[in-house]
Amino acid sequence: MDAMRLEHFRSLLLSQLPQHNEHIRNDQAAALELSDDGVKDSSDLSMMDVNKELALRLGERESQMVADIDQALLRIKEGSYGICARCGKQIDERRLEALPIARYCADCQAAIEAASGEDVTSTL
Ligand SMILES: [Zn+2]
Repeated sequence: MDAMRLEHFRSLLLSQLPQHNEHIRNDQAAALELSDDGVKDSSDLSMMDVNKELALRLGERESQMVADIDQALLRIKEGSYGICARCGKQIDERRLEALPIARYCADCQAAIEAASGEDVTSTL
């Protein structure tokens, strides 16, 4: 990938960082708020735990996004950006455009997801 394209993806990644950091802050604030007192009976308490758990898990997901972005930026620096970490082929730029943190080409991603058996469509 030429320097111009790399720079394009670099700024794309950088532009996504602040919003994720913002999400993390919000999620953590929400989690802290939910752990506040004011809980009377045990049913409230369990509901509170569920909400807190949810907020923390959202925070984890955002933290993971930030880590993924960091790693992508590192790959740009090292010159391995846009190359599939599994098969070593060039990742389609349209894929990178939609998912700048992509580490694998579409084929490998599908194979990995199929192998892991993870329900990638599951939401919280
Ligand atoms: Zn691949």
